[in-house]
Amino acid sequence: DLQPLRRALLSVSDKTGLIDLGRALVARDVVLLSTGGTAKALRDAGLPVTDVAEVTGFPEMMDGRVKTLHPMVHGGLLALRDDAGHRQAMQDHGIAGIDLLVVNLYPFEATVAAGGDYDTCIENIDIGGPAMIRAASKNHAYVSTIVDVGDYDALLAELDAHDGQTTLAFRQRLAQAAYGRTAAYDAAVSTWMAQAIGQATPRRRAFAGELRQTMRYGENPHQTASFYADGSGRPGVATAVQHQGKELSYNNINDTDAAFELVAEFDPADGPAVAIIKHANPCGVARGATLLEAYRKAFDCDRTSAFGGIVAMNVALDEETAQAIAEIFTEVVIAPGASDAARAVFAAKKNLRLLTTDGLPDPQAAQLTYRQVAGGMLVQDKDTGHVPAADLRVVTKVQPTDAQMADLRFAWTVAKHVKSNAIVYVRDGATVGVGAGQMSRLDSALIAAKKAERMADATGLPQPLTIGSAVASDAFFPFADGLMEAAAAGATCVIQPGGSMRDAEVIAAADDAGIAMVFTGMRHFRH
Ligand code: 5GP
Repeated sequence: DLQPLRRALLSVSDKTGLIDLGRALVARDVVLLSTGGTAKALRDAGLPVTDVAEVTGFPEMMDGRVKTLHPMVHGGLLALRDDAGHRQAMQDHGIAGIDLLVVNLYPFEATVAAGGDYDTCIENIDIGGPAMIRAASKNHAYVSTIVDVGDYDALLAELDAHDGQTTLAFRQRLAQAAYGRTAAYDAAVSTWMAQAIGQATPRRRAFAGELRQTMRYGENPHQTASFYADGSGRPGVATAVQHQGKELSYNNINDTDAAFELVAEFDPADGPAVAIIKHANPCGVARGATLLEAYRKAFDCDRTSAFGGIVAMNVALDEETAQAIAEIFTEVVIAPGASDAARAVFAAKKNLRLLTTDGLPDPQAAQLTYRQVAGGMLVQDKDTGHVPAADLRVVTKVQPTDAQMADLRFAWTVAKHVKSNAIVYVRDGATVGVGAGQMSRLDSALIAAKKAERMADATGLPQPLTIGSAVASDAFFPFADGLMEAAAAGATCVIQPGGSMRDAEVIAAADDAGIAMVFTGMRHFRH
């Protein structure tokens, strides 16, 4: 399965590494063919190169839309070298084999990311490139296809290891990656187009991903797993830089994302905020005058669960906060930056992973979420729902004070990031009890209050911090019992979507208990 490499076609938009590759190929007696810009670059570097136009007998035309779409090219890529009929066709038409294709495509994704207008995006859809990639990859029995600049060195190493030839296994791996590239490219085109023409539910969907990491295992050790970036380059766990510690696990990544997306809801202009996550749910979220204060308040919500947690913050990590975090076992810390002193604190903690990003995830950015079901896939818009202060409606006789309103809104934001049914108690800008993932809303309320009681016992507080707290419910209270449980735990104000058949009953219960209640008109289920 070794195949020689005599003739190569190079056609690249991104010319990084091109000259070095061209020179290395020429040094190995490979003949180079190339399209306009690529040929010029090679020629300018003093390398011998034949223009594709010379091979096809046609000039590049229509603004480059038609360059390589010709039997002299595609025949050279697709011909089965060991087939008598194919060999005859090559001879009859003077087609020479092409043994290596090096292509990287028009930068369609980058054009979209840069906000290119419709016509510019259309013009950046590469046609001849994908056609050649697909042809060469199909014929991987003979042809090598390179679509990533990062594979140039591997090609040269392969040639050197096999006396100027390539192995089938090598060509197969390249072909697999090449089809992944053209699939991702068309996925980007199709996704962009759906958005550009305002089609929210296109008849077909394509997905793309670029391998970021392979993992030892998935959610459990008997599951295999890997991590892909979506190519958007958005700040978040998929684009974060890891400064220390072993590789992140599947669960680490899932939890780190939950933590960072939650904390990004809090504008750094309003002060530092910290979220601590376990099993994708927050076990403490707080704002503070300083980052250290925010961390301590978040930690105090549920010190037991915070052990081995994931900590995210909305401002750069500083030294004193790093010291506080380092006091207990923490799996991952993610922040939009970290001071040198903070990094030095963590350097001694070999098991702690520190990730930094160039910014915060944008909680308002439109995005899709996917969930696999047997035989299909559920697709929805990400929950970017946000209720402006002006849309909040007080439905009780008692009005919340400004301070209560601030805590209600804080609790509401946290509840959006807690698995349903979610009940979140907040006091003074910090969660003091979180009830997550219960099948009954009442149970979530009970669990959250119980946790607050346990924290009070453990820390010697005279009474649980839920006394005098604000409470949020991610969906309406179907009955008054959940609300009454919250009142029993000491909540003095409530925020919830409203909209239950029994709203009147629930409002009456709130009035009886003398607590203020606010309706958001929006639900935040999270599963
Ligand atoms: P160059 O800079 O060499 O002029 O152009 C290189 C780019 O042209 C590559 O990105 C390659 O994928 C693309 N390309 C090659 N052949 C064709 C073609 O026939 N049509 C179109 N639209 N693009 C092509």
